[in-house]
Amino acid sequence: MKYKVPFVNPQKQYRDHKKEFLKKIDEVFSRGDLILRRDLEEFEKKIAGMVGTKYAVGVNSGTDALSLSMEAAGIKKGDEVITVAHTFMSTISAVYHQGAKAVLIDSGEDFNMNTDLIEKAITKKTVALLPVHLNGRLCDMDKIMAIAMKNNLIVIEDAAQALGARLKTKKGNWKAAGSFGLAGCFSMYPFKILGAFGDAGIVTTDNSEIAKKVRLLRYNGEDRITRKFYFHGYTALLDNMQAGLLNVKLKYFGGWLKRRRRLALLYKKGLEALKEIKLPHFADNRFFDVYQNYVIRAKNRDELSDYLNKKGVETIISWLRPTHKQPVMQPNNIFLPETEKICREVISLPLYPELADKQVQYIVSLIKEFYAG
Ligand SMILES: *Cc1c(COP(=O)(O)O)cnc(C)c1O
Repeated sequence: MKYKVPFVNPQKQYRDHKKEFLKKIDEVFSRGDLILRRDLEEFEKKIAGMVGTKYAVGVNSGTDALSLSMEAAGIKKGDEVITVAHTFMSTISAVYHQGAKAVLIDSGEDFNMNTDLIEKAITKKTVALLPVHLNGRLCDMDKIMAIAMKNNLIVIEDAAQALGARLKTKKGNWKAAGSFGLAGCFSMYPFKILGAFGDAGIVTTDNSEIAKKVRLLRYNGEDRITRKFYFHGYTALLDNMQAGLLNVKLKYFGGWLKRRRRLALLYKKGLEALKEIKLPHFADNRFFDVYQNYVIRAKNRDELSDYLNKKGVETIISWLRPTHKQPVMQPNNIFLPETEKICREVISLPLYPELADKQVQYIVSLIKEFYAG
């Protein structure tokens, strides 16, 4: 089916900047710069600058960013890592890939880790907290960092959905997702807020040892200068060509964030009077949200989804089944009421910089129509 309003529209972004993309491809290929070249270095520098960390190391995906930073941090068999069930499975898989156990806790109203539940989940085996900044909104990092400090735990941030998201800390300064913990893990999967034309990810850190180890792990464990292999590593590089294209996109990134925030505001103005839905705007001006996804909670969610689809609006229910109910996580007796409720209620509406105001207005009018019956 061809939707009047598709859920994503990568073709439009390509068309809008086609000349620049093709020029970059030609330039990089003509230089023969395929692996670990200046385009990747430039991208890493820019991301480190944006996030506010000393280092950024490009890897093949957000999943690799999580796995390699946990491996670099020494997380291993027998360890426990506290994270949320309400996330993409990849967060949890990355913990299991280290041989460690993911201890899943519930989320709060804002879809992020409920920080009141962290300390109860800590055991002698706990080594790390792995908060996920979902939908482009930071977790309460002041609180999470304080708990980590008190309990001597590592923090690794799953910032896959939160490039550019910020939080005004207790000290009064704005701090970006990926700059709080020992490592921040980002995804440049095509439909993320800054998406490549294929898989890509990056690790941010202030710790030189972590940066160095991730650099070695991503390229077979070999130090290319001493020509010695120090670890059993992987082939998990961020492709130089993709980095080149991401550098082109970075020029527009600030404008895209503004556009996302404006569209979110349009949805808010259009829908806030409806009592059947709950919008992802949380009264707390410490947070600068980037709306990777615009996720609402809706009464009669499945019927609303069908209605919008029928009227030509493509929507997605990203979390039909909670991660702890998935076959790979069975058996367990985990019960997470808020996570399970979220999965029953949420629906994601289209939100990307190329979306027109009038398309949002169309979606708003359909939702109003649906509840007016
Ligand atoms: C996308 C995503 C990942 C994984 O990133 P990939 O680049 O797809 O491997 C991990 N965690 C969250 C929260 C994500 O949204």
